Amino acid sequence: MAYVSELSPGHNIYLENQGDLTSITSMMSNPGQQQQSSNSVKTGCWTAPPEIYRTPQGAVVKLTTAEGEQFIQVQGSTISILTSTPSLHSSLQIPISQSDAAPFTSSLPSQAPLQPMQPMQPMKMGDMEMGMKPMGMCMGNMHLSMGSVSSESAHSEKTQPTKRHFCNQCGVALEPEDRFCSSCGHKLA
Ligand SMILES: [Zn+2]
Repeated sequence: MAYVSELSPGHNIYLENQGDLTSITSMMSNPGQQQQSSNSVKTGCWTAPPEIYRTPQGAVVKLTTAEGEQFIQVQGSTISILTSTPSLHSSLQIPISQSDAAPFTSSLPSQAPLQPMQPMQPMKMGDMEMGMKPMGMCMGNMHLSMGSVSSESAHSEKTQPTKRHFCNQCGVALEPEDRFCSSCGHKLA
């Protein structure tokens, strides 16, 4: 489950809790420019939906997790974990809403440990489906190659009698290059 909050027009913060990790993605989209930065931090499992407060520096995300309250500061595209509890009593809470999924971010290595969890499953299924198709095609190829072999031999059997020479003395089949009949020794023209 992901949450999204609009800090300012064109600046969205996506929050997603995956196991012990929270991924925070700051997406700033201005006309002609899109800036995205992402971070994933070990925060522990959320026990309550995240909250976002506007601060003079930008925004602070408050996460209530099994390991206690965590605060993450977002300044533009900079995401940093606050080691001390900020004073938020005078800060305005920014509305946050549930989102189907955080934007896909694969560019950052920090995303690697948690991103595979989601895309893996459909990809595996896709591979299986794709694996089946080449098998079917392989069988098709086998049939095709078998068919072409048998049609070649059929073809050669059809064409060989016209090429094949027969001894006009004893009637045995001869190789075209034979100069004498291999059966009766008749000299061939
Ligand atoms: Zn002969």
